[in-house]
Amino acid sequence: MSTRPPSPPAGRMPTLAAQALGWIDPSTGGLVPPVHPSVQYVRGPGRPIYTRDQNPTYEPAEALLAALEGGRAAMLFSSGMAAATTVFETLDVGDHVVAPREMYWMLRRWLQDQARRGRIALDLVPNGDPDALRGALRPGATRIVWVETPANPGGTVTDLAAAAALAHEAGARLVADNTVATPVLSRPLTHGADLVMHSATKQLNGHSDVLAGALVTKEEDELWSGCRRERAFRGAVLGPFESWLLLRGMRTLCLRVAASAAGALRIAKALDGHPAVSAVLYPGLPAHPGHAIAARQMEGGYGSVVSLRLAGGAEAARRMVERLTLFHNATSLGGVESLVEHRGPVEGPGSPVPDDLVRLSIGIEDADDLVADLEQALRGAAVDV
Ligand SMILES: *Cc1c(COP(=O)(O)O)cnc(C)c1O
Repeated sequence: MSTRPPSPPAGRMPTLAAQALGWIDPSTGGLVPPVHPSVQYVRGPGRPIYTRDQNPTYEPAEALLAALEGGRAAMLFSSGMAAATTVFETLDVGDHVVAPREMYWMLRRWLQDQARRGRIALDLVPNGDPDALRGALRPGATRIVWVETPANPGGTVTDLAAAAALAHEAGARLVADNTVATPVLSRPLTHGADLVMHSATKQLNGHSDVLAGALVTKEEDELWSGCRRERAFRGAVLGPFESWLLLRGMRTLCLRVAASAAGALRIAKALDGHPAVSAVLYPGLPAHPGHAIAARQMEGGYGSVVSLRLAGGAEAARRMVERLTLFHNATSLGGVESLVEHRGPVEGPGSPVPDDLVRLSIGIEDADDLVADLEQALRGAAVDV
């Protein structure tokens, strides 16, 4: 069994990630923790019992993620959705939740479904609007305030410290979906959030070959033990092989996040003002309405997601996606390869995403190659009218 070093190693994030907190296999000296496929364990003091609750393969990845986010503990899940829905499963029937209008669409749909079935009371508020949040809070009844910043896909920014203060004043907890920013660029727990959620499928793993989710907590409190109980009840655990792959992916997290954030900024700047593009939605651009807050609560970049609104409308968006050659037309984000998606039709009716929006997920390819591909596709899409 791998063991944690006696005291957590000192160092900044790239050091902690590259060395996976310095875990060494004590029986062999192996630098890479082993995979423990066993479902059950022969009973003995301090041993795990059953893999739905505990598996030693989860531990190095959970410990590393907790260290990167500055949290007390982390838990892996079978997907980002499993991690997110676990938080809400700790609530009692009728508890009130406030969430943003622009957020991961499937989670918004799930919350709306829960509300329709009378399990929670739900208010969706405009992103990054503290007055709207204040107005929606019901002191004593609101249990969870959910935020996502920068939000997927429009890049809206929420002031985490302001949202945390409002949530706490009303007796609620603040949970931040930190998938787009990653702990490399933003650490919501240091700005007042109580829990951080990740789709580890995205940049944490980074290689488009693992579906995974995670929660990280500031304190090992009642909400955390509730989440732990729910994970074991529902069995939404990440298998040992996926946990092992995720740890391997996270060792290069800092390099990948820096490269794709630099590429994304380069692309956002190159397309800002392009005649075929009516808006570039990227918080790294000084004119973005959330830029000042993002600059304050993010460090080292603004993420790998750039969305474009096309002057030629939905039809131009569809044509542009078809004409790109380096960008693959596929869903998801955060991999080493760049992807593009005409997002509105994916989210369908009821989504706040405009139908002329194209979402880019910037990988780690050469940024000039990516800009050239985008420029030829925009030219072609405009000519085609
Ligand atoms: C993909 C994603 C999720 C859902 O995660 P899965 O791993 O696909 O279940 C949640 N939030 C954001 C911001 C995402 O991009």
